Amino acid sequence: MPRHLYFFLLLALFPGLLLGNDPDSSHKLSQPGSEKKNSWRKLGQSTRIFAPDDFSIEEPEQLTFKLEGVRMDAYSRDFAQGDVVYIEILRPAKVHGFYSYLYDKDGKPLPLTRTNWGYRILLPIGAQDEREKIELTWKQSVGDRFGQARIEIPINEKSFPQTRWYNRVSFFPDLAPREVGGEETSDSGAESASEDEVQSLEQNPSPTEDQMASSGPEAENTELDAHGSPAQEKTLMAQKQESEEEGLAAEEESEEKLSNFMKKITLEKSLRSQVFERKGNDLITSRLSHPRNMHYITSQCFTSRLKISYKYVNGQKVEVGRRVVMHNGVDLRGRPGTPVYAIADGQVVLARSMHFEGNFTIIDHGLGIFSGYMHQSNLKVQVGQYVQAGERIGDVGNTGYSTGPHLHLALWIRGVPVDPLSLYSLPIRE
Ligand SMILES: [Zn+2]
Repeated sequence: MPRHLYFFLLLALFPGLLLGNDPDSSHKLSQPGSEKKNSWRKLGQSTRIFAPDDFSIEEPEQLTFKLEGVRMDAYSRDFAQGDVVYIEILRPAKVHGFYSYLYDKDGKPLPLTRTNWGYRILLPIGAQDEREKIELTWKQSVGDRFGQARIEIPINEKSFPQTRWYNRVSFFPDLAPREVGGEETSDSGAESASEDEVQSLEQNPSPTEDQMASSGPEAENTELDAHGSPAQEKTLMAQKQESEEEGLAAEEESEEKLSNFMKKITLEKSLRSQVFERKGNDLITSRLSHPRNMHYITSQCFTSRLKISYKYVNGQKVEVGRRVVMHNGVDLRGRPGTPVYAIADGQVVLARSMHFEGNFTIIDHGLGIFSGYMHQSNLKVQVGQYVQAGERIGDVGNTGYSTGPHLHLALWIRGVPVDPLSLYSLPIRE
């Protein structure tokens, strides 16, 4: 298959390929930082959070609803875009036969967990959720009485920081780099998709042609002409012809590598999809944990990143494209080899080396809730293993598409990425 066809196939699989890696995390670790031991702290009645001293646990906001004397409490850090919401429905005392159900706006039942004190559920508010409120229908039966109510939880708007990234265009790093000529931009002008592009793919598993062509709001009017001046172009054409013959053998070898590379990322994509299709039992307990023993954010969750790709043509920096992507996770500093902890109880459903995410662990917490830990130097757990909040699952590293040692932590609730740090304001109990 001609190389450019591979490339378009690659684009169909990973529309973010024209983007770069993670310069936000490239801060030099000039200071050793303060790696410490975490300690268990209390939140609410029974929640315990294993966290470093430099992490302050924010008390949640709380909303209370009532239906015929039955109480529902909703908790969230801010009820803002990107936050997790925790809901409890409290079983009334001395009642036999108590059942509660929650439905979303479209009438779809939500997966409540029944406990001995009532029901609980975690709900996501997407970072780009444009609803003004979460609308729920609450139905219940208490003994022989049946009740129904509409619940509205207002969503607070949040503005996320924006950053500018410059990415030098080169070929896939595990393949031999090729000379970049004026016309070859679309062919060889691919760099890395970072973890957030991979995640945006999860939300958007089959990109349309439109998305492929202009995958960011600013892409279409900023696709720059990658050709140099006519004179430059002539020189490049001549250079190209000269190197064409001797390049043929290398070309074939490189095509084989590219084909293998494609097989690899296609496999990894399907592994990720399989994981996210799981519907495990609710495993979350009243234990939660910070994923690190030092709290230092190098890139916040949902920072929108204007990614500008460029290359050098005859010593001139030439822009070859730009687009806006969202950082669906939080980057936390750490020296290689320092611990990574499971943020909640769950089962390891992925623990392997991946092209973009590096050494990547996904923990299934049940009911469509997954946490992900990327770029680790070392994996300490295996698929199938049950882990507890605060259990060491690996070490911080700089593997995959990462430009400096850090942990990228992600949290997904039934397909919606949320800020993992908003979890630590929730008085979750079993
Ligand atoms: Zn990140």
